[in-house]
Amino acid sequence: MKAAVFYGKHDLRVEDRPVPSIGSDEVLIRVAYCGICGSDVHTFEGMQANIHARPAGPLAMGHEVSGTVAEVGAEVTTCRPGDRVTCIPWVTCGACPYCRRGLVNHCPKKKLLGGAMAEYVVAPQGAVYHLPDAISLRRAALAEPLSCCVWATDLAGLRSGETAVVIGAGTMGLLLSLLARCGGAAQTIVSEPNPTRAPSPRAWAPRSSWTHARSTWRRRCAI
Ligand SMILES: [Zn+2]
Ligand SMILES: [Zn+2]
Repeated sequence: MKAAVFYGKHDLRVEDRPVPSIGSDEVLIRVAYCGICGSDVHTFEGMQANIHARPAGPLAMGHEVSGTVAEVGAEVTTCRPGDRVTCIPWVTCGACPYCRRGLVNHCPKKKLLGGAMAEYVVAPQGAVYHLPDAISLRRAALAEPLSCCVWATDLAGLRSGETAVVIGAGTMGLLLSLLARCGGAAQTIVSEPNPTRAPSPRAWAPRSSWTHARSTWRRRCAI
């Protein structure tokens, strides 16, 4: 199969690799779409990706995936070949103090999944989720970043009629501005210093106002 493999800063190669084999608790997914996460961009640029250490190559990249189940292990009961699925990009122990408090991102035994910028990827069945029929595989590749934004919106405690401020109009910022609108924000102010991104939030969330100057954002926030 073809796979995108990171070897070092600005060195990403498409290679032929064997289709991965699966264990008894694992699912082989035929990848339909794989998003490009900000952490993928950071990795490609040779920077530290989020909270993780700067990754060394060779590293099969990609974790924002949608696809169909191609094969399941002998102990898999939650899905079967042909199912349309997505998966969460890590598995945690479920038993450590962090996991028990819901802070799963701090789990010391957390294992990152990856390698979805390929024709096939493997995930344990506990990380695999069915997709509703109404959601296309193309849109479903946004499930993981969207879930992060849903969590952020919950933490913000946005209430109907309030004004929301979203800092940055990248993928996450656009998703957040949509969620703010769905959550009843009377107005959403999006701050983004890159003017080439300016039209996007307007198109996505008509009640958004737009500013590309951070100083402007600060002034508006102070009102
Ligand atoms: Zn991601
Ligand atoms: Zn844990």
